Amino acid sequence: MHPRRPTRQVRVGDDRVGIVRIGGGLPARDGTPTTPAPVSVQTMTAGYTHKVDSCVAEINKLAAAGADIVRVAVPEKKDTEALREILPQVRVPIVADVHFHFQRALEAIEAGVHKIRLNPGNINDRKQVIDVIQACKARGLPIRVGVNEGSIIERRDKQKRMKELGQVFSEHKHGYLLAIMITKLEEYLDIFYEQDFYDITISAKSMDPAIVIDAYTEISKRFDHPLHLGVTHAGPKETGTIRSVVALGGLLINGIGDTIRISYANDPVYEVQDGLELLYCLGLRERRGVDLIACPTCGRIQVDLFTLVQDVRKALAEKVHLPIKVAVMGCVVNGPGEAEGADVAVFAGDRRGIIYVQGEKVANVPEEQILERLLAECLAFQERVERGEAKLGEKKVDIIPPDPIGELGSGFEKIAANKVDRVTVGGTPVTLGRS
Ligand code: SF4
Repeated sequence: MHPRRPTRQVRVGDDRVGIVRIGGGLPARDGTPTTPAPVSVQTMTAGYTHKVDSCVAEINKLAAAGADIVRVAVPEKKDTEALREILPQVRVPIVADVHFHFQRALEAIEAGVHKIRLNPGNINDRKQVIDVIQACKARGLPIRVGVNEGSIIERRDKQKRMKELGQVFSEHKHGYLLAIMITKLEEYLDIFYEQDFYDITISAKSMDPAIVIDAYTEISKRFDHPLHLGVTHAGPKETGTIRSVVALGGLLINGIGDTIRISYANDPVYEVQDGLELLYCLGLRERRGVDLIACPTCGRIQVDLFTLVQDVRKALAEKVHLPIKVAVMGCVVNGPGEAEGADVAVFAGDRRGIIYVQGEKVANVPEEQILERLLAECLAFQERVERGEAKLGEKKVDIIPPDPIGELGSGFEKIAANKVDRVTVGGTPVTLGRS
């Protein structure tokens, strides 16, 4: 992991919903030092903003899932009017996503929104942009300047459009697209700088992870504003996850990125969950809730592990709030190893499960009791950690593999009883048994 790129910090929110800091590490414009904020997770509501009750319910659901910031679309005046009713009912900073109509930005600012997103591809009248900048400046609100591959090509000026399209559909599409995105971003930001406005975050999204990586890498060299990472139109969750993780993970590993939004054609709760998981995996956020490890199963499996893992995941998500590491393993091959590294572990075999807490065996139960007992052990362990009687990540005793292997009847005892026909290593049959 590369160290985080230092940026000029932006703050989103207010005293009521709380302040979310984005980026940091460079002094503020008044010289006050800042430290980099944890990378935040954003998402966007999927429903209509003007349907106040359902919009509030969706925002609150996303905040409960862990969203630090939630964006809402405001295509019509009825949407910005609804913000006046929505904002007092939510407890997370809200960003108004503005396209085409700069008036929507002014109305959203009046309604008390916490941040504005402008798209240089469709709000580019200089006077209109200045009006929005001045309104944000008066209220101390930041603006995200978000260019998108899908809306970056000129639409109004026909000649300019033909020229840009010709470049983008040439054999150097990637390079031209990057050049257009960065040029338009620079031109747009010049308007902000002329107005002495620096409370800015930047995004430059594409559906192509390679373009996303190259665009943000280039932008990170040219600007010191915090970067909002995203792959636009990533697709259904099933494939969008890989597309997003490749691009965002690649950038974050290189220290680039201060806030992220994963976008799926699905319930935005998944965007929040996967965004958080990505940050947990990279060590960029402190994990909230269980860190669940499970094996993929194979021909050695002797319990219904897929069902068990899903049941364990659901039960622990509801009841365990500490970042307890839990391993659910199918057999003794990797079970003891994972149990050594986990706080609570079960490894199964012969329709039974052996449960360990920090390396100490606490139970050997039939398959139908594994879930209940594992959950009880996790809750008891969580309570002990909260009372200061145990520490996360500690190990009390060594696990010696031959014991559980023999106990589950699937290891040396089986071999000794001649129940394993033959094992071949690198094409050579090997003799099994106790040496
Ligand atoms: S732990 Fe056992 S069952 Fe699970 S994948 Fe590994 S060898 Fe197969």
